[in-house]
Amino acid sequence: MLRRFVSNAADSLREKDAPFNAFVSFENSLNLTNNGKGPLNEYSIGIKDNICTSGLPTTCASAMLQDFRSPFDATVVKLLKKAGAQISGKTNCDEFGMGSLNIHSLHGPVINPFRVDSRRAAGGSSGGSSAAVAAGLCDAALGTDTGGSIRLPASYCGVVGLKPSYGLVSRYGVVSYADSLDTVGVLAQDVERVEKVFECINKRDCNDPTSVDERLREKANLLATKSIQRWSGESLKGLRIGIPQEYFPSELTSSSYHILASIRHLLSQLRSLGASIVPVSLPSTAYALSAYYVIASAEGSSCLSRYDGIQYGLRVPPSHESNFTSTSRTYSPSRSQGFGREVRKRILLGTYALSADAFDNYFLQAQRVRKMVRDDFDDVFSIPNVLYSKLSFEEKDANDHGEDGVDILIHPSAIRTAPRLDDVLDVSCDRDTLQDYVQDVLTVPASLSGLPAMSVPMQPGTASSSSPSFASSQSSDTDAGLNQPRDNQQSDENWPIGVSIVGQWGTDELVLKVGRVIE
Ligand code: GLN
Repeated sequence: MLRRFVSNAADSLREKDAPFNAFVSFENSLNLTNNGKGPLNEYSIGIKDNICTSGLPTTCASAMLQDFRSPFDATVVKLLKKAGAQISGKTNCDEFGMGSLNIHSLHGPVINPFRVDSRRAAGGSSGGSSAAVAAGLCDAALGTDTGGSIRLPASYCGVVGLKPSYGLVSRYGVVSYADSLDTVGVLAQDVERVEKVFECINKRDCNDPTSVDERLREKANLLATKSIQRWSGESLKGLRIGIPQEYFPSELTSSSYHILASIRHLLSQLRSLGASIVPVSLPSTAYALSAYYVIASAEGSSCLSRYDGIQYGLRVPPSHESNFTSTSRTYSPSRSQGFGREVRKRILLGTYALSADAFDNYFLQAQRVRKMVRDDFDDVFSIPNVLYSKLSFEEKDANDHGEDGVDILIHPSAIRTAPRLDDVLDVSCDRDTLQDYVQDVLTVPASLSGLPAMSVPMQPGTASSSSPSFASSQSSDTDAGLNQPRDNQQSDENWPIGVSIVGQWGTDELVLKVGRVIE
């Protein structure tokens, strides 16, 4: 009886999902390991299709893995089931997580549910997870975020998306894109649900060598709690919010006046609640995007080398006519047909960056930039980074780190709202595909630094919204940009846009707490 009920639920979900293409497979059976008892009792959760599930295929939206069924559940999936959640299905994504718009998928693009008839992108790569929660098809969804793949789609679809601190949530059973950047996070319609799911998956896992030990978690948590105690209560008095001036780049100021109006409106509200708005500078931000794409592609090319058509992945019989060497004759047909265009592009880029000729100038240089970006963050936060600082945190008060430090940072999640699918699916040579990468410009710095970051939908601002302290923090040039709508794209104005809250490593609780105030 119960089995029939679940199977009917899967059919109904399939039908409801048809306009969005958010799901790629549906759970037909009851998969509760805990008899539905636990904190996530009655939660239905979608799982991004690059996270292994034993009951459903894990395709990574790639022809390479279209027939792959994992023999085991990823640790995060196990934890969700143990907490009483029902897995509703696997969600669409960009192939192996490579993309910003969920257009590079074996299963086709995801349609943004905000207004289906406008046919806009849901964002990527966790576009299916984001669209599924935006359309109310599940209570929450898991996504992965390597350089913004949870925060960008959350911003475009108008939902909440948390990328936790690197190393808090297990990656065991998550198909790697770039091991030093990949994180598993949560999307839902509100912060409360995100927090509830995050609490269940925020556990040390000895199967994941990058899972951080209890000692460091506790240290960071203690610092976050101290910071929260300083300001939480009736007002936000005592909370210091940093506004990084580099997060208002020309791409944003030239075409997205409404995003600036919304953030101004938000900052003035936070100020009136008692928070201090502090202008800060993260000078290496401008180099972060290039460094990210070098590192992510290099790691990606290495991670994807396992799909050789022999041990893993699609097997296309060797072509005897080709004049390849015998090794290439074996690998090439499988890899050429198994990987999509964007993934092959990344493999070529990454392999080049790791080659002897380019290694110093590209890969090593990108690693240096990564360190600079991380140091910038450490310089502005009042809370020290427990991963790198040698100080004894037990005795140290968070305030000691510097009078001028801030508790968290706030900036727009994206430089624009969701683009039209017709524009981005245009495969003609005229399309500037570099624009797809530029969309990550505001999300990659937190990824390079392993910091917790959450995108929360912003209320639309008005032209008259003002925030004196923010305005005064800008140079006169930028300030002029904030006040003048240069290219007022009418039709984009009503589309959702998120604000990102970024915290010091391990202070996810603080980020969530501020998120609750903002939403
Ligand atoms: N858009 C970025 C990329 O393609 C980020 C992807 C992600 O976070 N998985 O690399």
